[in-house]
Amino acid sequence: MKLKNKCTLIGLLMLALQVNAESTPEFYDISENYVQLVLAVGLHDPVYVDAYYGPETLKEGLKKQDWPLAKISEQGKLLIKTVKSVPSSTDKDIQLRKHYLIKQLGALVFHAEQLAKKANNPNYERNFNQEAVALYDTLPPTYDYSYFDQVLANLDTGLEGEGDLLTRIDALQKKVQIPKEKLDIVFKAAMQGCREKTLKKMSLPENESFTIEYVNDKAWSGYNWYQGNSISLIQINTDFPIYIPRAVDLGCHEGYPGHHTYNARLESELVNKKGWLELSVYPLFSPQSLIAEGSANYGIAMAFPGNKRIEFERNKLMPLAGLDPKYAQKYQDYLDLRAKLSYAGNEVARDYINGSITREQAIELQAKYALVDAAKAEQRIRFVEKYGAYVINYNWGKDLVKDYVEANAQTEKERWAIFTDLLSSPRVPSSLSW
Ligand SMILES: [Zn+2]
Repeated sequence: MKLKNKCTLIGLLMLALQVNAESTPEFYDISENYVQLVLAVGLHDPVYVDAYYGPETLKEGLKKQDWPLAKISEQGKLLIKTVKSVPSSTDKDIQLRKHYLIKQLGALVFHAEQLAKKANNPNYERNFNQEAVALYDTLPPTYDYSYFDQVLANLDTGLEGEGDLLTRIDALQKKVQIPKEKLDIVFKAAMQGCREKTLKKMSLPENESFTIEYVNDKAWSGYNWYQGNSISLIQINTDFPIYIPRAVDLGCHEGYPGHHTYNARLESELVNKKGWLELSVYPLFSPQSLIAEGSANYGIAMAFPGNKRIEFERNKLMPLAGLDPKYAQKYQDYLDLRAKLSYAGNEVARDYINGSITREQAIELQAKYALVDAAKAEQRIRFVEKYGAYVINYNWGKDLVKDYVEANAQTEKERWAIFTDLLSSPRVPSSLSW
């Protein structure tokens, strides 16, 4: 055998080993077991499995009685040990994949244990920070209410108009409120705008598509139900008035470059191209949700940087809605001032989850610091009751994703490159800095 051929043979062997390293039997079994465990938790908690488009065979025959919560947490702990036993690798993809599975499984075990406690005692003791760390792999910052009182005072001074603060806000909101009969046309235009901006910067599978539905009586304002095969169902809750900037927010957050884009990229880049089956299931109460919500919120300014958003609202959306475009900037100025209040919602949720305030007090505080009426505040508290510490994923998640992208990028092109990579990787909060 000639030396050259020998080298080729060794090269081929190494290549085979490399391919094998990515789809090792261990990983294949781990992925299947992980998917099955997530689906098993879903038998106990109807909102837990947010999306699943993997093999039907893993779902078939799963019965609640075969998967008591104690068995799920025990199997979850064993699977964490198995993942940890996979030989360490210098390949970053493998490192991220292992870390993802360990963190996601840790959250799964915690959630299964919480569900078991709740089944025994609906008033079981909860702790917001503990839930944030265990489920979302991060400890959110804490603020004192006095900080938000100062923001409210600044808003009161800064917002022009007649009457008290809420009256002035109400008058301004009416100028940017989308009439119900115009919702569909405005949302479709907003989605199209977000999609065009995103597809100029990153590729998506050719067949990707979405449908929009208008719904009522939900604890959220919008939701993306990812169906697999690059298809999403986006639902918009029309219980409350919707103002022009929300059309852009929801178009980007639920669609492009938000949830629809993230899911479609995970499916095409990780599930289809690499065979990483574990990404075909999305457990809601897991570290992945911080990346999902954080990137969806940060994605709004990625698609519409600087004053591009105001231009789009003024030139396209407000005329479509039959609104006077001159109020776009005024309302945005108000939103910029109000943005500093966003973390107040986390404090209310923390106090309420920890049991240090009543439901009535939570609604009252939420109304005060989110500058909304009691009905809207009650909707938010319903969200907290259903999703707990999940609320941190929106503001704290956005800040973490923003810091990650901007610390590593100088130009818009670099920002998109890092952001696109994030949407195609199994990163969780604690592997953001890797
Ligand atoms: Zn979301």
